[in-house]
Amino acid sequence: MRFGFDIDDTLINLREHAFQIYKKKLNKDLSLDVFHALNRVEIHEPFGLTDEQGKDMWKSSLKEIYFTNCPAFPRAIEIITELDRLGHEIYYITARPKEHGERTKRWMKEQGFPVIDDRFFYGMQDNEKIHIIKDLKLDYYVDDKPAVLNTLTEDPVKLIVKDQSYNQDLEMDRIVSWNDFFELVNI
Ligand SMILES: [Mg+2]
Repeated sequence: MRFGFDIDDTLINLREHAFQIYKKKLNKDLSLDVFHALNRVEIHEPFGLTDEQGKDMWKSSLKEIYFTNCPAFPRAIEIITELDRLGHEIYYITARPKEHGERTKRWMKEQGFPVIDDRFFYGMQDNEKIHIIKDLKLDYYVDDKPAVLNTLTEDPVKLIVKDQSYNQDLEMDRIVSWNDFFELVNI
Protein backbone atom coordinates (compact mmCIF):
# COMPACT_ATOMS: atom_id res chain seq x y z
CA MET A 1 0.00 0.00 0.00
CA ARG A 2 0.94 3.62 -0.43
CA PHE A 3 1.29 5.72 2.69
CA GLY A 4 1.77 9.48 2.76
CA PHE A 5 2.98 11.47 5.74
CA ASP A 6 3.24 15.10 6.57
CA ILE A 7 6.39 15.78 8.63
CA ASP A 8 6.04 18.76 10.97
CA ASP A 9 3.83 18.07 13.99
CA THR A 10 2.80 14.77 12.44
CA LEU A 11 6.05 12.79 12.62
CA ILE A 12 8.18 15.24 14.56
CA ASN A 13 7.38 17.56 17.47
CA LEU A 14 8.30 20.77 15.68
CA ARG A 15 6.10 23.37 17.36
CA GLU A 16 7.18 22.33 20.84
CA HIS A 17 10.80 22.37 19.70
CA ALA A 18 10.26 25.88 18.28
CA PHE A 19 8.58 26.93 21.54
CA GLN A 20 11.75 25.98 23.43
CA ILE A 21 13.88 27.94 20.96
CA TYR A 22 11.62 31.00 21.36
CA LYS A 23 11.91 30.75 25.16
CA LYS A 24 15.67 31.00 24.94
CA LYS A 25 15.80 33.64 22.23
CA LEU A 26 13.17 35.85 23.86
CA ASN A 27 14.34 35.08 27.37
CA LYS A 28 10.87 34.18 28.55
CA ASP A 29 10.41 31.17 30.78
CA LEU A 30 6.95 29.90 29.86
CA SER A 31 5.76 26.52 31.06
CA LEU A 32 4.79 23.72 28.69
CA ASP A 33 1.21 24.05 29.95
CA VAL A 34 1.08 27.34 28.07
CA PHE A 35 2.21 25.54 24.94
CA HIS A 36 -0.37 22.77 25.33
CA ALA A 37 -3.15 25.32 25.85
CA LEU A 38 -2.52 26.94 22.46
CA ASN A 39 -5.44 26.33 20.15
CA ARG A 40 -3.83 27.56 16.97
CA VAL A 41 -0.87 26.33 14.97
CA GLU A 42 1.17 29.49 15.55
CA ILE A 43 3.09 29.68 18.83
CA HIS A 44 4.04 33.36 19.17
CA GLU A 45 1.09 34.71 21.17
CA PRO A 46 2.26 33.73 24.70
CA PHE A 47 5.51 35.55 23.95
CA GLY A 48 3.55 38.77 23.50
CA LEU A 49 4.22 38.98 19.77
CA THR A 50 1.71 40.21 17.21
CA ASP A 51 0.92 37.96 14.25
CA GLU A 52 3.30 39.95 12.10
CA GLN A 53 6.11 39.82 14.67
CA GLY A 54 5.37 36.13 15.07
CA LYS A 55 5.76 35.57 11.36
CA ASP A 56 9.11 37.38 11.37
CA MET A 57 10.27 35.41 14.41
CA TRP A 58 9.36 32.13 12.72
CA LYS A 59 11.13 33.08 9.52
CA SER A 60 14.29 34.30 11.22
CA SER A 61 14.44 31.16 13.41
CA LEU A 62 13.54 28.72 10.67
CA LYS A 63 16.90 27.02 10.13
CA GLU A 64 17.40 26.58 13.84
CA ILE A 65 13.89 25.18 14.21
CA TYR A 66 14.23 22.80 11.27
CA PHE A 67 17.78 21.56 11.51
CA THR A 68 18.74 21.20 15.13
CA ASN A 69 17.54 18.41 17.40
CA CYS A 70 13.77 18.43 16.99
CA PRO A 71 12.59 15.06 18.32
CA ALA A 72 10.40 12.65 16.40
CA PHE A 73 7.23 11.71 18.26
CA PRO A 74 7.70 8.52 20.28
CA ARG A 75 7.54 5.41 18.08
CA ALA A 76 7.07 7.37 14.83
CA ILE A 77 10.42 6.27 13.35
CA GLU A 78 9.85 2.65 14.37
CA ILE A 79 6.35 2.57 12.89
CA ILE A 80 7.42 4.03 9.53
CA THR A 81 10.43 1.72 9.45
CA GLU A 82 8.15 -1.26 10.07
CA LEU A 83 5.82 -0.19 7.24
CA ASP A 84 8.86 0.04 4.96
CA ARG A 85 10.09 -3.37 6.08
CA LEU A 86 6.67 -4.83 5.27
CA GLY A 87 7.11 -3.62 1.68
CA HIS A 88 4.77 -0.62 1.72
CA GLU A 89 5.58 2.59 -0.15
CA ILE A 90 6.37 5.58 2.05
CA TYR A 91 5.88 9.14 0.77
CA TYR A 92 6.66 12.36 2.61
CA ILE A 93 4.76 15.49 1.68
CA THR A 94 5.84 18.63 3.50
CA ALA A 95 4.96 22.26 2.87
CA ARG A 96 8.40 23.34 4.05
CA PRO A 97 9.81 25.98 1.67
CA LYS A 98 11.64 24.78 -1.44
CA GLU A 99 14.99 26.15 -0.33
CA HIS A 100 14.93 23.90 2.75
CA GLY A 101 13.61 20.79 0.99
CA GLU A 102 16.79 18.89 0.20
CA ARG A 103 18.32 19.62 3.58
CA THR A 104 15.09 18.46 5.22
CA LYS A 105 15.32 15.22 3.26
CA ARG A 106 18.86 14.65 4.51
CA TRP A 107 17.85 15.58 8.05
CA MET A 108 15.00 13.05 7.97
CA LYS A 109 17.40 10.34 6.83
CA GLU A 110 19.81 11.26 9.63
CA GLN A 111 17.02 10.88 12.19
CA GLY A 112 16.46 7.33 10.92
CA PHE A 113 13.33 7.72 8.80
CA PRO A 114 13.36 5.51 5.70
CA VAL A 115 13.44 7.97 2.78
CA ILE A 116 13.55 7.21 -0.94
CA ASP A 117 14.67 10.32 -2.83
CA ASP A 118 11.86 10.49 -5.37
CA ARG A 119 9.20 9.85 -2.74
CA PHE A 120 9.88 13.10 -0.92
CA PHE A 121 7.88 16.22 -1.84
CA TYR A 122 8.25 19.77 -0.54
CA GLY A 123 7.72 23.42 -1.32
CA MET A 124 3.98 23.43 -1.98
CA GLN A 125 1.35 25.42 -0.08
CA ASP A 126 -0.89 23.59 2.38
CA ASN A 127 -3.81 23.73 -0.02
CA GLU A 128 -1.70 22.37 -2.89
CA LYS A 129 -0.87 19.10 -1.19
CA ILE A 130 -4.10 17.71 -2.60
CA HIS A 131 -2.65 17.60 -6.14
CA ILE A 132 0.36 15.53 -5.12
CA ILE A 133 -1.74 13.26 -2.92
CA LYS A 134 -4.20 12.67 -5.77
CA ASP A 135 -1.46 11.96 -8.31
CA LEU A 136 0.25 9.51 -5.97
CA LYS A 137 -3.02 7.62 -5.42
CA LEU A 138 -2.20 7.19 -1.77
CA ASP A 139 -4.14 4.67 0.30
CA TYR A 140 -3.52 6.54 3.55
CA TYR A 141 -2.42 10.05 4.40
CA VAL A 142 -1.54 11.39 7.87
CA ASP A 143 -1.38 15.12 8.68
CA ASP A 144 -2.05 17.43 11.61
CA LYS A 145 -3.43 20.52 9.90
CA PRO A 146 -7.14 21.09 9.35
CA ALA A 147 -6.23 23.38 6.41
CA VAL A 148 -4.70 20.39 4.64
CA LEU A 149 -7.00 17.57 5.70
CA ASN A 150 -10.15 19.54 4.88
CA THR A 151 -9.06 19.75 1.22
CA LEU A 152 -8.87 15.96 0.97
CA THR A 153 -12.21 14.73 2.26
CA GLU A 154 -13.58 14.13 -1.29
CA ASP A 155 -10.54 12.10 -2.29
CA PRO A 156 -10.59 8.29 -1.89
CA VAL A 157 -7.45 8.44 0.29
CA LYS A 158 -8.11 7.38 3.87
CA LEU A 159 -7.24 10.25 6.17
CA ILE A 160 -5.74 10.03 9.63
CA VAL A 161 -5.23 13.08 11.81
CA LYS A 162 -2.34 13.31 14.25
CA ASP A 163 -3.92 14.66 17.41
CA GLN A 164 -3.07 18.27 18.26
CA SER A 165 -4.83 20.94 20.31
CA TYR A 166 -5.81 22.88 17.16
CA ASN A 167 -7.43 19.99 15.29
CA GLN A 168 -9.94 18.76 17.86
CA ASP A 169 -12.89 19.63 15.60
CA LEU A 170 -11.86 17.25 12.84
CA GLU A 171 -13.94 14.12 12.73
CA MET A 172 -11.75 11.44 11.24
CA ASP A 173 -9.56 8.59 12.38
CA ARG A 174 -7.12 10.01 14.90
CA ILE A 175 -3.84 8.94 16.38
CA VAL A 176 -3.01 10.43 19.76
CA SER A 177 0.12 8.32 20.00
CA TRP A 178 1.91 6.63 17.10
CA ASN A 179 1.22 3.38 18.95
CA ASP A 180 -2.36 3.77 17.68
CA PHE A 181 -1.35 3.65 14.03
CA PHE A 182 -1.47 -0.05 13.19
CA GLU A 183 -4.93 -0.34 14.77
CA LEU A 184 -6.26 2.17 12.23
CA VAL A 185 -4.85 0.73 9.01
CA ASN A 186 -5.83 -2.44 7.23
CA ILE A 187 -2.64 -4.01 6.04
MG1 LIG B 1 2.20 19.44 9.80
